[in-house]
Amino acid sequence: MQTVVRFAPSPTGFLHIGGARTALFNWLYAKHTGGKFFLRVEDTDRERSTPESVETILDGMRWLGMNWDNNDPKINNGRNYYSQFEKRERHAEVARAMVESGAAYYCYATPQELETMRAEQKANGLPQKYDGRWRDRPASEAPAGVKPVIRLKAPQTGETTVRDEVMGTITVQNNQLDDMVLLRGDGNPTYMLAVVVDDHDMGVTHVIRGDDHMTNTFRQVQIYKAMGWELPSFAHLPMILGPDGAKLSKRHGAPAVSDYRDRGYLPEAVCNYLLRLCWSHGDEEIIPIEQAIEWFDFDSIGKSPARFDFVKLNHINAHYIGATDDKKLAELARPFLKEALGRDLTEAEMSMLASAMPDIKPRVQTLREIATSTQFYFMPRPLKLDDKAQKNLTPEAKAHLKELLLKIEALSDFTHDAIEQIFRAYSEEKAIKLGAIAQPLRSALTGTTVSPPIFKVAELLGKTEVIARVKDAIL
Ligand code: GLU
Repeated sequence: MQTVVRFAPSPTGFLHIGGARTALFNWLYAKHTGGKFFLRVEDTDRERSTPESVETILDGMRWLGMNWDNNDPKINNGRNYYSQFEKRERHAEVARAMVESGAAYYCYATPQELETMRAEQKANGLPQKYDGRWRDRPASEAPAGVKPVIRLKAPQTGETTVRDEVMGTITVQNNQLDDMVLLRGDGNPTYMLAVVVDDHDMGVTHVIRGDDHMTNTFRQVQIYKAMGWELPSFAHLPMILGPDGAKLSKRHGAPAVSDYRDRGYLPEAVCNYLLRLCWSHGDEEIIPIEQAIEWFDFDSIGKSPARFDFVKLNHINAHYIGATDDKKLAELARPFLKEALGRDLTEAEMSMLASAMPDIKPRVQTLREIATSTQFYFMPRPLKLDDKAQKNLTPEAKAHLKELLLKIEALSDFTHDAIEQIFRAYSEEKAIKLGAIAQPLRSALTGTTVSPPIFKVAELLGKTEVIARVKDAIL
């Protein structure tokens, strides 16, 4: 049987990094088994769901490269995703069928009545749950004017066992379950009902989601049983914690997938990192997506929560930056430079940026750092020198640069070797260290004291620009 998995976000905010991990595990499982990966937008909560949030989520999915198979507008009423809200009639129909079969019933209790019930339970130290007051009452006793909800007639004895692919076999006593609402008084389905009906109708074979849904699973299983539907397999993923061990949240910074894009992470690095949260293959850290597809399975998912580790993410990102083609990397860094410079780069500057990459790549961990460490190439003259760079330009250093300028001007072959030759010969002639002239040159050319190899920087800047920047610095 073909595997069908789904990612089912509620569009009430951004695509959370934890949600992205759930999406990735589903996507990988589909690819690994040659199955289908569906996206279902759970937009039944009309007050909290927004179109902007849907867009943000779709955008994050595309950025990570997780395309979904049910994206054809023809099957989705013109949308490129499945909207749960659009299926509300079908959900209601299932709820009514459950009433017909005796698996569910109408409950006419008013909100005030339920509030009193809970207050009494609380006062008596009892668990607060619906007490089944309409479970066996005939509809003929229904009060006038109350729109009933439909509740599940949950089993009250025995136990329910779920065999989870990650967590193992878990059993709960049925007396823990309550007669949950399936259909609200206004005819809208609850999340519990909509999820099960959709999973069934979409042919979902494996439900892979965060373990915060574990208790929902026991309740949802009752609906499958009541409808006589085959249960899917379940795989509940352990939580992701922040570096401090608390549940990952906004407080830890960068909760959204878009935060990682904005900070200059590559999508392949983020996927690789997310994969390593709770899943492992020996000691492998760098696992490109093709390899991940081949290796991914449930057996290697750990049971304990994973801790988010920015150092590890940076390390992985640096690896993928190093492995990216220079031209492509320049294109990826382009928007960050645009932001830093307040203008886009010209095509000539773009090829200069690509040529700078071999020396930049080993020094950076993010695309943003590429921008910070290459922006000096494109800054307007005269460059603003930082304090340390200023300090290197002592009167002696300036005097040396002045003499060196004559030699640079005379240079016909403006390569880094030739420039270095001039500087080395000069340092020997004057019996000074190379650094005593190379560092001031760095200050003059880059405005800072850290940069890629300075003679290479000079070659890339070109003779005219080098002469102009040195003159700016020594005058
Ligand atoms: N819509 C639910 C959520 O965002 C997920 C439901 C599910 O995966 O079953 O948490």
